[in-house]
Amino acid sequence: VGCGICVHKCPFEAIMIIGLPEALTEPTHRYGPNGFALYGLPTPQVGRVTGILGPNGIGKSTAVQILSGNLLPNFSQESGTWDKVLEYYAGTALYDYFSDVADGEIKVSQKPQYVDMIPKAFKGKTSELLDKTDERGKLPELVERLNLSHVLDHKITELSGGELQRVAIAACAAKDADFYFFDEISPYLDIYQRINSAQLIQEIAEDKAVLVVEHDLAILDMLADVVHIAYGEPGGYGVITHPKGVRIAINQYLKGYLPEENVRVRSEAIKFEVHPPRMGTDISTLMDYAAFSKKYGDAFSLSTDGGSLKQGEVLGIVGPNGIGKSTFVKILAGEVLPDEGELDHNIKISYKPQYIKADTAIPVRYFLRSVSSRFDSSYYQSEIAIPLQIERLYDHLVTELSGGELQRVAIAACLSQDADMYILDEPSAHLDVEQRSMATKVIKRFAENNRKTAMVVDHDIYMIDMLSERLIVFEGEPAVYGKAHKPSSMQDGMNKFLANLGITFRRDEDTSRPRVNKPNSRLDREQKAKGEYYYHD
Ligand code: ADP
Ligand code: ADP
Ligand code: MG
Repeated sequence: VGCGICVHKCPFEAIMIIGLPEALTEPTHRYGPNGFALYGLPTPQVGRVTGILGPNGIGKSTAVQILSGNLLPNFSQESGTWDKVLEYYAGTALYDYFSDVADGEIKVSQKPQYVDMIPKAFKGKTSELLDKTDERGKLPELVERLNLSHVLDHKITELSGGELQRVAIAACAAKDADFYFFDEISPYLDIYQRINSAQLIQEIAEDKAVLVVEHDLAILDMLADVVHIAYGEPGGYGVITHPKGVRIAINQYLKGYLPEENVRVRSEAIKFEVHPPRMGTDISTLMDYAAFSKKYGDAFSLSTDGGSLKQGEVLGIVGPNGIGKSTFVKILAGEVLPDEGELDHNIKISYKPQYIKADTAIPVRYFLRSVSSRFDSSYYQSEIAIPLQIERLYDHLVTELSGGELQRVAIAACLSQDADMYILDEPSAHLDVEQRSMATKVIKRFAENNRKTAMVVDHDIYMIDMLSERLIVFEGEPAVYGKAHKPSSMQDGMNKFLANLGITFRRDEDTSRPRVNKPNSRLDREQKAKGEYYYHD
């Protein structure tokens, strides 16, 4: 099956032309005669969190514009009227909702997807931005719970990505609205902050309607009550399914087949395997490193255990923000020198930093060719370029790429170098759920096929779970000190990591994916008592 975009045959069969189910004859909205068409709408409901799961460019923002009353759906005609909308939705769950929208009685509060844009529009202090939003008298509580007290006096233009994200969540939650929309909460946040924000949003939904888009599936799973799957052809058309229970929806999405709709959204399932431990003897060591440490002035210090890295293994690196993960990989990569401890730099390392900069305005094609002579090989094209969907970006200037596009180009550039070890710092950032699963597959196959060692720092538990054979866990106090443990098995590492977070995971019976246990549920208490935070079989 080809997607019609790629010239080569794609070994991953990433995107398929799936066609429209017959029942969908009339789009809810179409932007002009040949413009993007949206079929279906999510149904926000008071008392629950409604999630949308699907790739970008498939009409999620369009749907929210409609539900906010900012865009009148035209049902593919030249223009629409509220009478037509009410007639169309008569007898459905959306009728009452649209009656209120038509009467101007729905107030919407939105958290935008790209928080990086906020400093372009607002130059004042954090407190000035937040004070205006305090319509429910909840701001002080939100500031406290989102750990924002120390940035109230800082200028918005000086905040880090994670601080901006939390300010944006606080601003959205502080307003008094009927309908709250959070367009992604996880970017720039560590897993602790993601869970914390998810709990806060669930509380809003106790007496309000809340809609969320989220690409971190572990978070979506614990946050949403029901989920609409969104599928289609990015930029062409999008279909939003009826709501499904969150567990069923994520399982169907991972399997790539929606039985109620009789639609296949992907040719291959995304699989979670319970990793068998590797047999120690036949695996050669790539590198042994002794303990090392690093101090940044008086502010932050990192210390590490020594460890041994194996040839061809993928290591996951987990821990909160500000604990020294990036510093650790920069020291391994030879970009930063440790204060104590020496590293053997006889091995070649290819390193993708967390923050990617593009400073020369050259087309992607020339950029990738300059990084690697392998660029034109069919192996490179079929194993890296096509599944990462960068073919269509070849003629774009590196400086003009979006965050997600630049991320994919940077992953491709990292893997195209000739090296002994590949280190990727936060590869899931800015990627949608489909691109994350593709990136995961590309990195894993690359390491397996070439017997190369890879290290991946990430907060997306699904990505870490699918990729890693072993884990390096970081503990400490963010911005004060960090401690890197020696590489451990997934089981031991996840137990340590999750115990620090105070959450437990079980495996889904159907798909083996990890699921967060409800705090204080029977399983949660049982697993904690046994010290089995990760999962119990
Ligand atoms: P998502 O939120 O899922 O990323 P959007 O709803 O933003 O998707 O966009 C879906 C498609 O609709 C995109 O191809 C976009 O270019 C197109 N689109 C969005 N707004 C308009 C508009 N005002 N006029 C024409 N096309 C638009
Ligand atoms: P992580 O990747 O776990 O988020 P980092 O290694 O980026 O953590 O940073 C750990 C701490 O060190 C943070 O408090 C950060 O502000 C600080 N830090 C990072 N790089 C520097 C630097 N070059 N100079 C001074 N402080 C730094
Ligand atoms: Mg980092």
